[in-house]
Amino acid sequence: MARRAGRPPLLGPGLLRRARGIRMLVLDVDGVMTDGQIHYDADGREFKSFHVRDGYGIVAVRKAGIEVAVISGRGSGATAGRLRDLGITRAYLEAGDKAAALAALLHDTGIPATALAAVGDDAPDRPVLERAALAVAVADAHPGIHDCVHARTRLPGGRGAVREVCDLLLRASVRGR
Ligand SMILES: [Mg+2]
Repeated sequence: MARRAGRPPLLGPGLLRRARGIRMLVLDVDGVMTDGQIHYDADGREFKSFHVRDGYGIVAVRKAGIEVAVISGRGSGATAGRLRDLGITRAYLEAGDKAAALAALLHDTGIPATALAAVGDDAPDRPVLERAALAVAVADAHPGIHDCVHARTRLPGGRGAVREVCDLLLRASVRGR
């Protein structure tokens, strides 16, 4: 299947096949696990919102034996708290070079890129998406990354996009890998 904007729905047969061998899901945070907005209070403290249904999907995927990791260009207390809640311990925050972070992640886990799914929303995610066997952009991703993904979610980042990918991986794992 060509890497282009996801006209086919995320549960299409081609994607299900592609999802079958996935052993690790790598997520960007801002714009993927969130809607991309970063709020500041009067003291400069940062906060942002995560979606509870994404969280449920992430936990379900991990229970199914698929590793979930995060590679983010930023770091914040809000992100750290959310990752802690979800039990995500493989997190590369303030990763200025996502290609290097991914290389370290693959090395540490011993999981090959051929078993990797990734979700992104913007140009910094490109090196991760380009290596992933299943590369997904959120519905409202920057159009500049459409050429390097296999599909786009129906829902935007922070609003259930991650859950769609989790559901796809779960469906593929139920059907056997
Ligand atoms: Mg992002």
